[in-house]
Amino acid sequence: MKLNRRHVLALSGAAAATTLFAPVLRARAAVPFSQPELPYGEDALTPVISARTVGLHYGKHHAGYFKKLNTLVEKTPYAELSLEDVVVRSRKNGDTDIFNNAAQALNHNLYWMQFKGGAAAPKGALLEAINSNFSGLDDLEKKMVAQGDKVFGTGWVWLVKDDGKLVITGMQDAGTPVAEGKKALVGIDVWEHAYYLDYENRRPEHVAAVLGKLVNWDYVSEQFQD
Ligand code: MN
Repeated sequence: MKLNRRHVLALSGAAAATTLFAPVLRARAAVPFSQPELPYGEDALTPVISARTVGLHYGKHHAGYFKKLNTLVEKTPYAELSLEDVVVRSRKNGDTDIFNNAAQALNHNLYWMQFKGGAAAPKGALLEAINSNFSGLDDLEKKMVAQGDKVFGTGWVWLVKDDGKLVITGMQDAGTPVAEGKKALVGIDVWEHAYYLDYENRRPEHVAAVLGKLVNWDYVSEQFQD
């Protein structure tokens, strides 16, 4: 709207400032989906994951999914939804490009949140669930490593809460339990960009190290009880 002198005079004080400037501010933050900040420094996961891998993975790959997603959803009803709802609906609607970028944006949000250098072992209700669904944490980790090795090409290995049970599942490409309405507890990225600089072709070694040394089981426990 073009403001003429009469409009400007009709607006006064704070109301005028809000009316005049709010749309400008909104336009500047016009992307519907923003990448959350990394919850720690790029070097916080060393030596298991190098700062260079974290920098590229977070700053280029993860950021890239958000950038593409924002371009794809522009002026579509998806722009009004939560990221989780975009994942679920784009899958249902067969909007593959939107699904791939939304799911990868969300998968990596979960990925960064679950890690912490020097994290503590699982305890309480989560430990009980691990012990009743597997023969202990070592068994769970061994099975996740094996499942990660089975994913052909790119994908994820997930620990999922499904109907109160803990289930390990491998998924290809942008696959996510969230699309199936299931709760993701741990998600290990087995795309080569997640490990190749540090582990070259040794994917199982990477997955084992990440599970054994970086997963913040206190955080997983909160998700499990949520
Ligand atoms: Mn990734």
